[in-house]
Amino acid sequence: MDQKNDNYILHIDGERQYLTFPKLDSYKELRHVFTTRHGGVSSGCVSTWNFGERKLDSEENILRNFEILADVMGTTADKMVLTYQTHTVNIRKVTKEDAGRGVTRDWGYRDVDGLVTDEKDLTIITTHADCNAVFFYDPVKKVIGLAHSGWRGTLGGISREMVSIMMNDYGTDPEDLVCGIGPSLCKDCFEVDEDVAEAFRDADPEYADFIERRAPKYHIDLKAIIKHDLVKMGVKEENVLDMGLCTKCNKDDFFSHRGHKGKRGLMVAAMRMAE
Ligand SMILES: [Zn+2]
Repeated sequence: MDQKNDNYILHIDGERQYLTFPKLDSYKELRHVFTTRHGGVSSGCVSTWNFGERKLDSEENILRNFEILADVMGTTADKMVLTYQTHTVNIRKVTKEDAGRGVTRDWGYRDVDGLVTDEKDLTIITTHADCNAVFFYDPVKKVIGLAHSGWRGTLGGISREMVSIMMNDYGTDPEDLVCGIGPSLCKDCFEVDEDVAEAFRDADPEYADFIERRAPKYHIDLKAIIKHDLVKMGVKEENVLDMGLCTKCNKDDFFSHRGHKGKRGLMVAAMRMAE
């Protein structure tokens, strides 16, 4: 039985459990998901739906987990493209030429933390275990984008970079964009030292509103910073969606780097437009 509220729908399909944004579900041509820990074939600390951490899992299990995702997305694993995440703000424009990269064949690139495309039947994927997944959809120009926005990517402005690329290279009007933030650390769970708080204040004095000192540490609301950036780029406030879920507060259902002290797998955000 699916669980539903204003922010997300938790789809329960046998063993498989994954989340969607109700508003993005209203676009019939669009398929999008954020996975949970439940629904794959992996075991131990990466049980069960793990999409990475190759030191803790077998290639065979990971590929099988992608095949299960492909089934959920209505496609096949060789039509998927994966980021190669290293906390950069680099975004790659992908086409059918990129199909299978990072999933059924080697990436052929490194240092890619965001993907964007206007191709139909190409599934773009980012991986997560506490870091924010930011979904982008332009229903007018039919463009999809996904960004991995941990604190470094958020500080570097990867979401602003994505909106710029969509505007400049795909003709997107930011007023048409619908964006969504997946499960990631809440403000209480994202505790940092002074240097990180300082770096955010230096980047934009307006970020001070989202940083709280709880001596001797600081807490930063990364989701609020991403929303602030998107609205500043021209995205309508009502089109910035947030599942409102914390990975560490819900570590039985999500892989959480901080919650599992590094011994964890990776979940994915995935998007695809049907033909
Ligand atoms: Zn939390």
